[in-house]
Amino acid sequence: MARYTGPVCRLCRRHGEKLFLKGDRCFTPKCAFERRPNPPGPRPTRRRKVSDRGLQLREKQRARVTYGVLEKQFRRYYEEAIRRPGVSGENLVRLLEMRMDNIFFRSGLADSRAQARQVIRHGLVTVNGRKLDIPSAHLKIGDAISFTPRGIRSEYFKIVQEGIRAKSVPTWLALDTAGMSVRVSAEPHVQHGETHVFNESVVIEYYSR
Ligand code: SF4
Repeated sequence: MARYTGPVCRLCRRHGEKLFLKGDRCFTPKCAFERRPNPPGPRPTRRRKVSDRGLQLREKQRARVTYGVLEKQFRRYYEEAIRRPGVSGENLVRLLEMRMDNIFFRSGLADSRAQARQVIRHGLVTVNGRKLDIPSAHLKIGDAISFTPRGIRSEYFKIVQEGIRAKSVPTWLALDTAGMSVRVSAEPHVQHGETHVFNESVVIEYYSR
């Protein structure tokens, strides 16, 4: 699956806020946004007023970048969200949250979604006991993520095992710190602020025009 491979911190500077795409580094003084919060490129000579459409585009881009999804795939999520019954915005959030890489990250088994994708792509992870190396795989309630035998032997596993207890996990995920696995116990709680990294109704508006 294609993914963005350019400079990550540049995205935060472009969006004018910290998007926390690099895990622990984002909380240190090394954060590029802390050091240079101005947008990348030459300084604009005058400040331009951003239209409503521009604000919608920004919000859509922010959501897309946060979940590490390219435009084509993100649009597919939108199309699926409006096809499903219920509130389209909530459907969109659920579709993004139920991605395998997001769940791996949310459970604290990875520092960032990018790291989760890398670990999954390296074949260190199982879903319901079977190896699955597709970060965008859509999980269901009851699905459980764990490590493959090779994953358990890896250096990565040892590092995560030491730090896992300190992580806070959304209530819709059941983390087993002893077994180093996580199970999806419910639908992501769209209303409770646990999952909100973007304004989903603005994103739906953006695509529906
Ligand atoms: Fe963004 Fe994290 Fe880079 Fe800071 S360190 S600019 S929050 S990705």
